[in-house]
Amino acid sequence: EKFVYYFGKKKAEGDAKMKNLLGGKGANLAEMVKIGIPVPPGFTISAEVCKYYYEHGNKYPESLENEVKEAVRLLEEETGKGFGSNERPLLVSVRSGAAISMPGMMDTILNLGLNDETVDGMIKESGNPRFCYDAYRRFLQMFGDVVLKIEHSEFEGALSSIKKEKGVKLDTELDADDMKEVVKRYLEVYSKAGKEFPQDPWKQLWMATDAVFGSWMNERAIKYRALNGIREGELLGTAVNVVAMVFGNTGEDSGTGVAFTRDPNTGEKQFYGEYLPNAQGEDVVAGTRTPFPLTKLQDINPAVYDQLLDIFSKLENHYRDMQDIEFTVEHGVLYLLQTRNGKRTPYASVKIAVDLADEKRISKEEAVMRVTPEHIETLLHPYFTKETMESAELLAKGIAASPGAASGAVAFDPETAEKMAREEGKAVILVRPETSPEDIAGMAAAQGILTSTGGKTSHAAVVARGMGKTCIVGCEAVEVDQKTRTMRVNGKTINEGEWISIDGTSGEVFMGKLDSVKPQGLEGPLAKLLGWADEIRKLGIRTNADTPRDAKIAREFGAEGIGLTRTEHMFFQEDRIFAVRQMITSSTREQREKALNKLLPMQEEDFYGIFKAMEGLPVTIRLLDPPLHEFLPKEDEDVKELAEEMGMTYEELKTTVEDLHEFNPMMGFRGCRLAVVYPEIAEMQTKAIIGAALKLVEEGKSVVPEIMIPLIVELEELKFVKSVIVKAADELISKSGLKLDYKVGTMIEVPRAALTADEIAKEAEFFSFGTNDLTQMTYGFSRDDYGKFVGHYMEKGILENDPFQKLDRVGVGQLVKMGTEKGRSSRPDLKVGICGEHGGEPSSVEFCHIVGLNYVSCSPYRVPVARLSAAQAVV
Ligand code: ADP
Ligand code: MG
Ligand code: MG
Repeated sequence: EKFVYYFGKKKAEGDAKMKNLLGGKGANLAEMVKIGIPVPPGFTISAEVCKYYYEHGNKYPESLENEVKEAVRLLEEETGKGFGSNERPLLVSVRSGAAISMPGMMDTILNLGLNDETVDGMIKESGNPRFCYDAYRRFLQMFGDVVLKIEHSEFEGALSSIKKEKGVKLDTELDADDMKEVVKRYLEVYSKAGKEFPQDPWKQLWMATDAVFGSWMNERAIKYRALNGIREGELLGTAVNVVAMVFGNTGEDSGTGVAFTRDPNTGEKQFYGEYLPNAQGEDVVAGTRTPFPLTKLQDINPAVYDQLLDIFSKLENHYRDMQDIEFTVEHGVLYLLQTRNGKRTPYASVKIAVDLADEKRISKEEAVMRVTPEHIETLLHPYFTKETMESAELLAKGIAASPGAASGAVAFDPETAEKMAREEGKAVILVRPETSPEDIAGMAAAQGILTSTGGKTSHAAVVARGMGKTCIVGCEAVEVDQKTRTMRVNGKTINEGEWISIDGTSGEVFMGKLDSVKPQGLEGPLAKLLGWADEIRKLGIRTNADTPRDAKIAREFGAEGIGLTRTEHMFFQEDRIFAVRQMITSSTREQREKALNKLLPMQEEDFYGIFKAMEGLPVTIRLLDPPLHEFLPKEDEDVKELAEEMGMTYEELKTTVEDLHEFNPMMGFRGCRLAVVYPEIAEMQTKAIIGAALKLVEEGKSVVPEIMIPLIVELEELKFVKSVIVKAADELISKSGLKLDYKVGTMIEVPRAALTADEIAKEAEFFSFGTNDLTQMTYGFSRDDYGKFVGHYMEKGILENDPFQKLDRVGVGQLVKMGTEKGRSSRPDLKVGICGEHGGEPSSVEFCHIVGLNYVSCSPYRVPVARLSAAQAVV
């Protein structure tokens, strides 16, 4: 078995397809070597070893040591240097890297191989003692910090003590002797901490390797995987990359940088990056010195700049996606140290996918797959209007790092942010000097992130963009004081818990809570992408809408009809509830009809508005569904008033109200059961629906009403209710002398209905799966009470998902599939849809596609998400 994969001039044993085994970093380093991009040579210890390491009590496979030795020998040969040599020492970096890019694992160790003797060899070779001691002290610090867990601040303290003694401010002002002194003091830090610095490079290498594998299971990494839905065992582990060092800190003709081949914020086809001359490794990201924009490199070294541009386009052509790269220039020679598909804002992700398809680098289908449903969701998120921002109190301006708008109570550490969000249900803005991988959970809990240091490629910026969170970085005016739990901004002091607002598009920070608005309509690249999705998808997309306003929004978002209008929502309006209560508490048919006659014109008006907004498209209206007692007066005052109006005594009415109490209302007197007992209710609603439709027909408009009966369990029951509807409808239509087609169908939301769907389809002209109730009744989990235990089910791994969020394919899904097949067996052209919350959830949409439903129906803002998901289900 093979555990070590070499990459360099001699050979490249890995490639980009081997991400699982070599991690993203290792696989792409090998791939770059293969396509002729300059990369320093190195080797990757596969993630298989990580798995072995944990399965065998932190031991390695026997053959590993020899394989590593052989790879180091090849490296020595290729570089002409020796590992541990006093003449020309070979230095390496040790880098972690899993199949999925994962902050939270071990930090990179640079300059490994240095010790008291090899540093002399390096000085002899380079003739630059300051550079060599600087490299050594960096190594001591990283190795101590990362491998031996010596407090970072201990090293910081030693360094600043020397700077103070020398009266200088910057590291760069320290000379060779000073750096030598730093090395000495760093070694003292080790002994003070009771740790030994291993002088033997081989020992260094194995300890660093242990640390990388060890970091796979550290708290940060585990938390990151949990947060990102990566299950334990889904990945083998991390790989370890050992790469020959190249030096960006050997003078002004050297440097290091990071770049994106396209703008990760806007998606514009415009590279984007930062460059820091005479610097090593993470100096750029650490934010200690301010890097130049990449374009400056054109002045510093035009040849390298041009070479870099060439590489950008070569990489994009090869990977067919925007790349995020890390590079180093050593004495004017360029090396790439990493490439990966770049993280981007949701907006940029759409723009880049559409551009790549327009550039014919990818197909439309691929473009549709490049954007996640979550991206689309975020794009429909709120923003601040110009007016709102102009009238708000501007506190400061930082670097706009991730677009969007957010308001929240400020929290100064991730734990507080999580607590405020989870326990107190607050919107939170996390404010930090800068963020690090430990902050991930706090960032996820926050609405937005604000940091006082860092640039556009800092940790906060990159992570926030990935999460689609509003973020501002480098807002230097913000000073956080952890002790007093306050922040100072331009003379103003803000306490933890006070509200601020941030605009991630302009970089502006405001005092207080600003009202944000949802973006209306889809534009530009998103419209184009969703247009492609529409060409690809087979499922129809409808919306759940109870008002003309919702219907209009949904239509703008691309809804092709209404899959569910809940009439009862209209009953709660101030001017109607009184008549509704009258209807419910009536003791005679006469009384009830009086109340119903009051409701009829109101309902007709509602339906008219909805039909009009959806002109030409099908509209499914469900008859009254909830248990009646939901509408009853609860206050004595209201009971009294109602009794008076109805000519009853208070006591009489009170008794009626009490009689309507149910022990288990969700399985009680509701749905079509109401129509069975009080057909006049169904009759009134039918008249309102058909009446409204006829008005539109009269106006020359086209309407397609579909009347839907809820909670059917039995064919005879459906027959009865349908006859009431058909009688009322046909009477009205023939009286009008107009022509109007309508359909009568049913919801399938009780298991018995699914089981007898072939029977039911004899009368039902369409089916709509109400998967909220169907899930409730299939599991026997009350929708109103399951919150108390479902969390435990998921924690204990009994349930993988909340079945009310993600359609359970195995159980509930089986009923959907069977119900559809049975229904179509007796009515081949039966139209079947779904109108539960699942209709806008990507995995559930995919399932609906698989079982051959005609459409899904979801809330207006989820319509674009459903359009994309339905297309992705096809590809
Ligand atoms: P991360 O996953 O945190 O980005 P990397 O392993 O990519 O960590 O290393 C971070 C940085 O360290 C790189 O961007 C590069 O600047 C520097 N680095 C890593 N290996 C080398 C090397 N062999 N030579 C020079 N610089 C290196
Ligand atoms: Mg790092
Ligand atoms: Mg990197």
